[in-house]
Amino acid sequence: MANFAIDAAPSMTYDAIVIGSGISGGWAAKELTGKGLKTLVLERGRDVKHVTDYPTANLNPWEFEHRGQVPLAIKEQYGNIRSFMREETLHWAIKPDEQPFVEEQPFTWTRGYHVGGKSLLWARQTQRLSDFDFDGPARDGFAVDWPIRYADIAHWYSYVEKFAGISGNKDGLPHLPDGEFLPPIELNCVESHLQGVIAQNYKDRQLIQGRCAHITKPQPVHTAQGRAQCQHRNLCVRGCPFGGYFSSNASTLPWAERTENMTLRPHSVVHSIIYDDKKGRATGVRVVDANTMQMMEFFARIIFVNGSALNSNQILLNSISSRFPNGLGNDSGLLGKYIAWHNYRGKISAQYDGFADKTTDGKNPSNGYIPRFRNVYKQETSGPASRFMRGYATGVGGGRGFAQNREGMGLALKEQLLHPKLGPWNISGWMMGETIPIEANHVRLDPTLTDKYGIPQLITSAKWTENDDKMVDDYIEQMTEMFTLAGFKNINAVDTHANPGSDIHEMGGVRMGKDPKTSLLNKWNQLHHCKNVFVTDGACMTSTATQNPSLTYMALTARAADYAVKELKKKNL
Ligand SMILES: Cc1cc2nc3c(=O)[nH]c(=O)nc-3n(C[C@H](O)[C@H](O)[C@H](O)COP(=O)(O)OP(=O)(O)OC[C@H]3O[C@@H](n4cnc5c(N)ncnc54)[C@H](O)[C@@H]3O)c2cc1C
Ligand code: SF4
Repeated sequence: MANFAIDAAPSMTYDAIVIGSGISGGWAAKELTGKGLKTLVLERGRDVKHVTDYPTANLNPWEFEHRGQVPLAIKEQYGNIRSFMREETLHWAIKPDEQPFVEEQPFTWTRGYHVGGKSLLWARQTQRLSDFDFDGPARDGFAVDWPIRYADIAHWYSYVEKFAGISGNKDGLPHLPDGEFLPPIELNCVESHLQGVIAQNYKDRQLIQGRCAHITKPQPVHTAQGRAQCQHRNLCVRGCPFGGYFSSNASTLPWAERTENMTLRPHSVVHSIIYDDKKGRATGVRVVDANTMQMMEFFARIIFVNGSALNSNQILLNSISSRFPNGLGNDSGLLGKYIAWHNYRGKISAQYDGFADKTTDGKNPSNGYIPRFRNVYKQETSGPASRFMRGYATGVGGGRGFAQNREGMGLALKEQLLHPKLGPWNISGWMMGETIPIEANHVRLDPTLTDKYGIPQLITSAKWTENDDKMVDDYIEQMTEMFTLAGFKNINAVDTHANPGSDIHEMGGVRMGKDPKTSLLNKWNQLHHCKNVFVTDGACMTSTATQNPSLTYMALTARAADYAVKELKKKNL
């Protein structure tokens, strides 16, 4: 630790530091700067400016040098990392030497290391958790009781939804609370058909319009952000020049920048948080400048940890002091434990012979959604749902592709290529199951291996359980039944046996709870034992629910930032 800048310049001292500029870090930046705090946002990756840094956003298929493919020689540089290996998205992919990690058990860890993080990569589905989720661990006897309930967060869901722009339908479902919705993105005919069949045949199931972070009818707060209505191009993953969907880059970060209270520092890999034994609080962070490899220190009164779930675990585990020899705030010894994720192993696809006269109008950046219907009101004690705890939601999407005949020669072939015939309707479903957090599923630091920044490598040790296997079986049975009732053909339902983490919804390790002996964070996302450090990304999740989680990270972040600033003003931090 000899090269730390112990006597940091005053310019290195801020009111607040935010680690990470992704979905949750962007919200922390917006809220803290908006409340007048000089805030340093530390981001390990490069800068990505909204619009100008989306190099493929407006390219036509024929304008890609390799027609969309990534040449083998370039692929080889990425080794086993297969995320975003398309020509349109290669600029988002990270190379293995950026952050090697040790898979004690196979784990797929998808990362987005640039300003905006995975807010530029996500599928934008956004549902609220309900009390059936917050009550879950206490009711069903797993993990620990959440320290909050729906009433604690409902206001903050509304707060972030209005700003981000969430489209959806008010469905009136107790287990999927309605939000502040812009008009929903319509289901297409085959999705509507399945919706009707489910409504006719099941009392406990509904197919609803996906709730997603797309602006379908801009409100003044969206135009003030410089964002416009979604154009249904469905090229979102390239970056959207219209700001049609919510990303940190289009929304929270430029808003924070306008306050003139934000300093955004890309290429800043946070190594650890500095804890001062005498002051009894965290005083700042250690950062490796990715360009110079120089270790630097930055100081602040409060620190928000938003590196995405596993990185936040890694940073806290690496934040060692004489007071906290096992990681910051880790008196309970539970830091890094109870890692959970979503179970996306079940997949189903089929075709439909009907609606031959119909096609889609434009491209649909959303999909249908069947909320959880297993073990919702109670844990079943008989019947199929009694075989496992909790349940699953499912995404459902239909579309119609071309059945192009590329055989033949000359004029006939030209004709076929110019006027391809539409194929049948296809429909698919993908499972989103709740996994039960268990102590054995954990991350820890490797005692000897470090990355190129000198940071100990993360070991991932997390496996599927029998509960997950049984839930996949039930998903396959139930979805096959629903698809059969809908008259779909060529039904193919499979268990992909994908690695844990493949869902990109990793959570836990720094869970919230009521008791410092069994949790790391209190109800305000504040470390029980280091009150000026807040963790508001997926690491804080006590249980996973089945909903796409990022909306909850946003709401928890805005809520915690509000509390932190009030506490700061009261001089409690
Ligand atoms: C293809 C895809 C589809 C998805 N679809 C959905 C969906 O439909 N709905 C949903 O809710 N979620 C979805 N997700 C997940 C969603 O993207 C994440 O839940 C969300 O981005 C997490 O927010 P975050 O702030 O925790 O992390 P991120 O958005 O990943 O941001 C973390 C930031 O921290 C930075 N960082 C990490 N470590 C350090 C460090 N040591 N020092 C400095 N900076 C650091 C990273 O570079 C990054 O910019 C999807 C993800 C992907 C990839
Ligand atoms: S579908 Fe909407 S949000 Fe996505 S790229 Fe097109 S305009 Fe942007």
